[in-house]
Amino acid sequence: MNRSDVRREAGATPAHVGSRPVWAEIDLGAVRHNASLLGRVAAPGALCAVVKADGYGHGAIAVARAALEGGASWLAVATPEEGVQLLDAGIAAPVLVLSEPPPEAMVDVVGRGLTLTLYSQRAIHAAGLASTRAGVVTDVHVKVDTGMHRVGAAAAELLEVVQAVVAEPSLRFAALWTHFPVADGVEDEDRSFTEAQIRSLGEARDLLARAGHAPPMLHAANSAGALAYPAARLDMARCGIALYGVPPFPVVDPVVARVMDGTGARALRPVLSLRAKVTLVRRLDAHERPSYGRLYGLEAPSTVATVPLGYADGVPRRYFTLGGTVLVGGRRRPLAGMVTMDQIVVDCGPGDDVAVGDDVVLIGEQGSESLTAPQWAEVLGTISHEVFCGIGPRVPRVVVDREGQG
Ligand SMILES: *Cc1c(COP(=O)(O)O)cnc(C)c1O
Repeated sequence: MNRSDVRREAGATPAHVGSRPVWAEIDLGAVRHNASLLGRVAAPGALCAVVKADGYGHGAIAVARAALEGGASWLAVATPEEGVQLLDAGIAAPVLVLSEPPPEAMVDVVGRGLTLTLYSQRAIHAAGLASTRAGVVTDVHVKVDTGMHRVGAAAAELLEVVQAVVAEPSLRFAALWTHFPVADGVEDEDRSFTEAQIRSLGEARDLLARAGHAPPMLHAANSAGALAYPAARLDMARCGIALYGVPPFPVVDPVVARVMDGTGARALRPVLSLRAKVTLVRRLDAHERPSYGRLYGLEAPSTVATVPLGYADGVPRRYFTLGGTVLVGGRRRPLAGMVTMDQIVVDCGPGDDVAVGDDVVLIGEQGSESLTAPQWAEVLGTISHEVFCGIGPRVPRVVVDREGQG
């Protein structure tokens, strides 16, 4: 497909985008597809769709509904407020809050129907008291720290923590869980660390069972854990990034590739594309230096297109300095200078026929070219999670539903 074909295919800006032609297209068909694939990976365990941070910037409510349709049966969020937002939207699935709310917040948090993660004595007592006063029973998933060292009860304190939950008549000990820091790693060390964590979780379960508190449910895996470690799937897999269509591994090593192929996980479909339209075109002479700092010199006369989104919208300034590209006319083009807060400039090359209104793709496909979130992450030295979360609230999310290739 040549450039003008791509342009002729240019669609109209979706109606509800507003006056600035920039939007993130969210394909709910892809969410359902990915959820169904991951649900098969997790089976017979449950799939928990992780929709924290507004569904990794995709829109939590729409993603949650599509994931449940596709086969997820749980949802997970980072904060009680995020969970309440889902319940207020009428979503009926169980919603797990992944970190412990502070004790003083429990009065507001219990009674909303959320499943809480707890791991400290004070929070457990506060949750118990608040639940008793509210006349509700709150389900509690106790988190044990097996090596991430961020949140969770230390293994040595776990029994006391669980005993404290069980001692509260208005709390129900519903699960034991943990989290992996390097399940996406491909070094031998990463694999042995993750395998040791899976063993530690099993030992923690056995210890509780011997004390008469066998956890009704056990979970550990994030996307990488679910795809690369069958032993980590247990009763539930908490998948975020894979649900959004991104394989969780920066590099796929042979072991992971084998497991992934076994699950069909290479067939994940990207959910988000970031799109815009050219708002201004200039023909500039050689040696002109567009944008702040005048850091990019045109070597020859060139066509420079202005696209109306910038670092306030999720295109970091360093996307220019690190050599990031965008798609215009079905080809990758370099930025013609520093990313600004609200706009970028794109070097379309000498004599290019780019015009105002042409489609620009920042993440997604155009003609036979594509730019993916992992490619952005590679340029920026980060992970796709951060690329998605960087797409700012000023960018409208436009929901579509493509059936796709199944
Ligand atoms: C965010 C998160 C997940 C999901 O991780 P992905 O890598 O996006 O699959 C799972 N579990 C916990 C505790 C998390 O915080």
